[in-house]
Amino acid sequence: MATTSRSQIWHERAQHSIPGGVSSPVRAFNSVGGTPRYFVKGEGSRIWDVDGNSYVDLVGSWGPMIAGHAHPEVVGRVRSTLENSFSFGAASPGEVELAEEIIRRVPACERVRFVSSGTEAVMTAVRLARAATGRSLIVKFAGCYHGHSDALLVQAGSGIATLGLPNSPGVTVGQTQDTIVLPYNDVVALDELFSLRGDEIAAVITEPTPANMGVVPPVPGFNALIAELTSTHGALFILDEVMTGFRISRGGWWGKYGQAEGWTPDLFTFGKVIGGGMPLAAVGGKATVMNILAPLGNVYQAGTLSGNPVATAAGLSTLELCDEELYRRIDFLAEEIGQGISSALTEQSVAHSYQHAGNLFSFFFTPQGVENFAQAQQQDTQAFSVFFHALLEHGVSIPPSAFEAWFVSNALSDADVAQVLDAARHASRAVKD
Ligand code: PLP
Repeated sequence: MATTSRSQIWHERAQHSIPGGVSSPVRAFNSVGGTPRYFVKGEGSRIWDVDGNSYVDLVGSWGPMIAGHAHPEVVGRVRSTLENSFSFGAASPGEVELAEEIIRRVPACERVRFVSSGTEAVMTAVRLARAATGRSLIVKFAGCYHGHSDALLVQAGSGIATLGLPNSPGVTVGQTQDTIVLPYNDVVALDELFSLRGDEIAAVITEPTPANMGVVPPVPGFNALIAELTSTHGALFILDEVMTGFRISRGGWWGKYGQAEGWTPDLFTFGKVIGGGMPLAAVGGKATVMNILAPLGNVYQAGTLSGNPVATAAGLSTLELCDEELYRRIDFLAEEIGQGISSALTEQSVAHSYQHAGNLFSFFFTPQGVENFAQAQQQDTQAFSVFFHALLEHGVSIPPSAFEAWFVSNALSDADVAQVLDAARHASRAVKD
């Protein structure tokens, strides 16, 4: 057994200063048990904890580290930027360059406003949609996670699904009374809602493929239906690409699938990859809607650190590494790892559903495929915990929750993939025993 004594000491110490010892709940390992690792170094595909153990990283900071850790080009750009100041709280060229790069990649996104987290990006998108339509209702889908703003913390995925909370205390009825939650992939429910209340709906928000309840691909035509219904009824379509943006393709999910299928959202939210691991996110979309933001319009939104030069430098140099070759490679790696793990589980007759959408994938320990949150909640989370710990023990770090997607980086080598698949064979046997 690898020693984790230093991580344990840090975690005990952290309890006295940080609730639960962590800055974001899933990191505490509550749902899988055991000691969370405290990390001190990342290089390429690997991360090291305070005890000196190294792991192949299939979390990638939950998405941003698509090019691997401490990529020399990103480090170089960040270093030269921060030598000139960490922040001005004023306009700077880097944010313009990053906005232009986003628009080049996602032409349906005509304007971009930077914020510091995906949560903020979504909050702003919701405010914009309400202001633009003069309506209040927001429709979301159970199991989708859009950050932790009050109005959207209802039947949310990610950490809140991991903790098994329907929603959070502290969020009042008033704050969520204008949020309608529908089952994901339920075409009939969506149609019915629009025929009953279409003229009250400000926006439908969705992940283009949910990846915060595990990975649940949309049924064919689901995103197109949202686009059609919102457009017909004068509501807006908010596509939350915080996770999928610039991960699924050069132009995110929309660039790969939306454009080809002929649908376009009104607003996008981005995060993760566009900050290259720094706190940076964005709301973007049609100029007619975006331009009602202050100072052009009267919809207020602001941030001391928004468009921060160091963060935009990290984001821009990360995006520059994200060329067609990178996407071809991470798609290939994701499939190689996903299929390989599924085979290892099948060899041990472990019931599971390997689910993937683009290069995002996850495993549900349940014999049936999962199409919505209710089905995702039926999985055997105990089996996941055993699998998780066996992988960790064999030097592979995956998200410490059965309700999360796994992330590959372009830094993974053949040897890393071989290690992951070998670890998966051990982990599959551990689940079976
Ligand atoms: N939207 C989606 C789809 C996400 O996956 C996340 C975070 O995982 C968020 C919004 C919230 O982003 P952040 O954690 O940066 O606030």
